[in-house]
Amino acid sequence: MFLFGFHVRRVISRHITVGVGPIPDFSRSLGHRSLLGAVLSVAMRYSCAMPLADVHAHLTHERLLPQLDAVLDRAERAGVGSIICNGLNPVDNQRVLELSQRYPIIKPAFGWYPVDAVLADMRRGGDDYPDQRDAWEADEAIGWVAEHVDRAFAIGEIGLDGYWVKEPYWDAQEAAFRRLVALAMDADKAIIIHTRKRERRALEILLEMGAKRVDWHCFGGKVKLARTIAEHGHMLSIPANARRSESFTRMLQTLPREQLLLETDCPYLGPDRDADNEPANVARTAQYVAELWGTTVAEVEEQFAGNFERLFRVRP
Ligand SMILES: [Zn+2]
Repeated sequence: MFLFGFHVRRVISRHITVGVGPIPDFSRSLGHRSLLGAVLSVAMRYSCAMPLADVHAHLTHERLLPQLDAVLDRAERAGVGSIICNGLNPVDNQRVLELSQRYPIIKPAFGWYPVDAVLADMRRGGDDYPDQRDAWEADEAIGWVAEHVDRAFAIGEIGLDGYWVKEPYWDAQEAAFRRLVALAMDADKAIIIHTRKRERRALEILLEMGAKRVDWHCFGGKVKLARTIAEHGHMLSIPANARRSESFTRMLQTLPREQLLLETDCPYLGPDRDADNEPANVARTAQYVAELWGTTVAEVEEQFAGNFERLFRVRP
């Protein structure tokens, strides 16, 4: 039903311009010349590429921030219209918020990285995380997100991590995750998930809580589980290293195209092993996807723009 509705909407937007996105609605502004306007709009829709989106970036990272203007300029020139910058903790969330106020292309996602979510407990327990950073208590970190939720484009990254976090801390990690999912659902915001080694449990919790507007970022579990996730209507965003990843290539080939998005996770997971990643690289993934699907890049861009709009309710 959901997919059928989407298909109908796509057909309508292809054939009768509805004035969404960056294409001006000539049929209205030209008045009596509305037929000409409609024809022009349809022609533009066919000829203009849809903007791409990077749904998972870390532009606050010390390797990207000092050259941010150049990074954003390259992204725009590569056809990127939206970059969802994901926060990790209150300090990072604050920086994400400030960047989004300065640069309209940056959409702010506020979160609590699942390792950060138990870092205070881990340090009290004598365990640590190699990436040195401040530890926060749950009320403080989740309180920050609650206080700023109206300004969030999405909530993320949040989730479960069993790679860096040992089992004694999993209950606390799940408790924080549930609070953040509930907060996102109450505010009707899409959720961006990070999970490592605990994919199945994260899915159980999201289904039990009835979360529907979800993107799984850089999914590292089995492709079969990715298919189950897609069957539940969640999105999966594919990073820019897809061309050299067998698993992401298989996901692009076999998952429903309506359930896929593009991301970078920059500065990590770039297409070139030795270079930092950046949002412009989603254009290279789009090129790769066109090769895999046997379609044009423009069709790939349109597919991803539609998927983005279904999850985030705006065009990229
Ligand atoms: Zn991330």
